[in-house]
Amino acid sequence: MDEFIPPAKPLIGDEEREAVDRVMRSGMIAQGPEVLAFETEFARHFGLGRACVAVNSGTSGLHLGLLSAGIKPGDEVIVPSFTFAATANSVALAGATPIFADIDRESFCLDPASVEASITDRTTAIMPVHLYGHPADMPALQTIADRHGLQVLEDAAQAHGASLGGTPVGAFGSFGMFSLYPTKNMTSGEGGMVSVASGEIERLMRLYRNQGMQRQYENEVVGFNSRMTDIHAAIGRVQLTKVNAWTAKRQNNAAFFNAHLEGVTPPPVAEEAVHVYHQYTVRVTDDRDGLAAALKNEYNIGTGMFYPIPNHRLAPFQAEVDLPRTELAALECLSLPVHPSVTRDQMERIVTAVNNLAKAGA
Ligand SMILES: *Cc1c(COP(=O)(O)O)cnc(C)c1O
Repeated sequence: MDEFIPPAKPLIGDEEREAVDRVMRSGMIAQGPEVLAFETEFARHFGLGRACVAVNSGTSGLHLGLLSAGIKPGDEVIVPSFTFAATANSVALAGATPIFADIDRESFCLDPASVEASITDRTTAIMPVHLYGHPADMPALQTIADRHGLQVLEDAAQAHGASLGGTPVGAFGSFGMFSLYPTKNMTSGEGGMVSVASGEIERLMRLYRNQGMQRQYENEVVGFNSRMTDIHAAIGRVQLTKVNAWTAKRQNNAAFFNAHLEGVTPPPVAEEAVHVYHQYTVRVTDDRDGLAAALKNEYNIGTGMFYPIPNHRLAPFQAEVDLPRTELAALECLSLPVHPSVTRDQMERIVTAVNNLAKAGA
């Protein structure tokens, strides 16, 4: 059989290894100058026009972001159910209640109408996810937020470099969190980067990250240890120099799929949106699980299902809500390998396999 095509593959080169070695040799490995430089470079690289704060994971970034934005116990935060559990987990960790709204059929991101229908007098924020690297409908969500006096917060974990109407994701909300986990569009090993809309949110993020201290042993609030190490920051700084080329490769691979796939529904891109294809997710209306199994067993092609169980049905949440488009997406979604390591030959293999199988199934 042809060699296995993995659904994701982190890219670590000599430059990253040398950067780690440089930090190790310096003898200073905890949060320090590399983290500070990474924060500045990240904000500049993605044109965020605001400050960034680095933390030890994307989930920490959401949690600290929520706390710093003033989300309090008893608050309700509207989130999609069709996302990774970290979105709702972070809301719950902040003591607030995640309220699950439905998604848009095309973009897989929060549906503004469903969001508005979910608002109560306890709602304080809306936290869309730019799922798969496609921006959520930020102008519509901002309009609703303004009408009801709510904050908009961004889970941009999967969307480094995505934009809408020329504005990069992460520059819309009170904060925007980018994950730096190895399978994301760029990595620091583990890590998260949070862009912040105000000096006050930035100040609180930095306090919560470091046990509530700005000055050593003068603790101002109850905080965490959510610091990023200089080792991780050094990896992230190198990855920043490569991420544009990787994104372009993802977009080229996606364009190839769009042009050649048959029998499945390719992911549409909204007007004025730049999609960075963290995942290339098609809809399979007839036996998605069968197609995934056949791709694996007959063609040695790995795929992903993000996400097979909507969050509102997970054990910690169990919310009684009716989210038909979320349920359908959970049944139909299938992510094909689109990452920068997939070669042209492999792209052709994937297209041939999907088209053969989808035709046989039709
Ligand atoms: C990966 C991810 C997170 C969490 O990021 P970590 O760095 O893994 O903690 C949050 N939300 C979404 C949508 C993600 O994909």
